[in-house]
Amino acid sequence: MAKKEQTPKIYFLDVTNRDGVQTAKLGLSKLEKTMINIYLNEMGVFQSEFGFPTTRHEARYLEANLELVETGVLKPIRLEGWIRAIVGDVKTAFKFVPNIKHLNLSISTSEQMLKGKFRGKKTEDDIIKEMTDAVDAAKAMGAESIGVNAEDASRTDLSFLVKFGLAAREHGAARLRYCDTLGYDNPFTIYDTMKALAENVDIPLEVHCHGDLGMAVANSLAGAKGAVDGGQDAYINTTVNGIGERAGNADLVATVLALTKSKGFAKKYQLGNPIKLAVAAKIAEFASYAFDVPIPLNQPGVGANAFAHASGIHADGVLKDPENYELYSYKELGRGTPKFVETGREIISGQYSGVAGFKHLMGKMNVSFASRDEAGDILELVRYANVQSHKPLVEDELLFIAKHPLIAQKLLTLTPLVLETM
Ligand SMILES: [Zn+2]
Repeated sequence: MAKKEQTPKIYFLDVTNRDGVQTAKLGLSKLEKTMINIYLNEMGVFQSEFGFPTTRHEARYLEANLELVETGVLKPIRLEGWIRAIVGDVKTAFKFVPNIKHLNLSISTSEQMLKGKFRGKKTEDDIIKEMTDAVDAAKAMGAESIGVNAEDASRTDLSFLVKFGLAAREHGAARLRYCDTLGYDNPFTIYDTMKALAENVDIPLEVHCHGDLGMAVANSLAGAKGAVDGGQDAYINTTVNGIGERAGNADLVATVLALTKSKGFAKKYQLGNPIKLAVAAKIAEFASYAFDVPIPLNQPGVGANAFAHASGIHADGVLKDPENYELYSYKELGRGTPKFVETGREIISGQYSGVAGFKHLMGKMNVSFASRDEAGDILELVRYANVQSHKPLVEDELLFIAKHPLIAQKLLTLTPLVLETM
């Protein structure tokens, strides 16, 4: 296949709001998901897989975030929804979220899943037919970009993956996602496979890695290198703090660091758009708070020990020249500014807060209200946000609600179906 004229590039596609939130025992409120999209946009991440357009309780959140795209609040990030690669899901997605523009269509491709999940009821040809029918339907209904997701790709025969990818491309898919669903690959195998796919399918590739063997970041780097060496753009799937099913996904910050700081990589392989690493600490801390999962002490870049030195030789060395014992500076990750921690009286937001306390709280952030009624309206939204998240809102969430009350109202409106059998 002919290679592109331009050097292929590497992009980030974060899946915290899909893979992260489907993690067992964890979840995010719709406002928290929105904040993640806002921080990802600020960081320069190309795309956020922002949720599930076939899930009824996601619909208002998804539509509200697409409104933020329309009004330029979420710009230039691309928001894409994840569904199964079946026509029924495509129809439901456009019914629930009519303004959806970008979709990822997922179907299992491995022999294991054909036998073990589909119980032998589907052949490889059936898989391709379902996927291409879904791509056709998504195009017909107005999808601007479609990614096709080969689930369990790392346990799928390469020859079938190529056939699957070619069919996706012929039907107008923009990208093929190579999903190492079980974290089975290693950097050597994923490099070879991604390079072969790039050369034989001739379509931009996504690499989606899990940490079951502790190699999610390394595999993402190797997979992206394979795609680029094979002549195609690479889109690395990440999650904030690596939160994802089982042992998790490739951590966003660690993957950015690996791409830009590891030996010789950044000189040879280019990012499609610059990543503002300075947002790293903020997004990691917010995700940790929102998921209620602490950042490990030794987390690359954002862990409490990532720049801590105790032993004499290291402390002396880093004081003489930080580069002696630090590969990059804490300042690059947005760390190092002192934080104000209240140790005395604290007025915080809650689902039973009143106007006086709320005005005091917002006043500390230099937000004032035209009238008591206006303060009351914003407070009403803050109370509902607390009902969903069960914890005090962070400053950025309060500011978001004050600035975008009508969007917040949509995010916070959850109306279950009428139960006809009750
Ligand atoms: Zn996954």
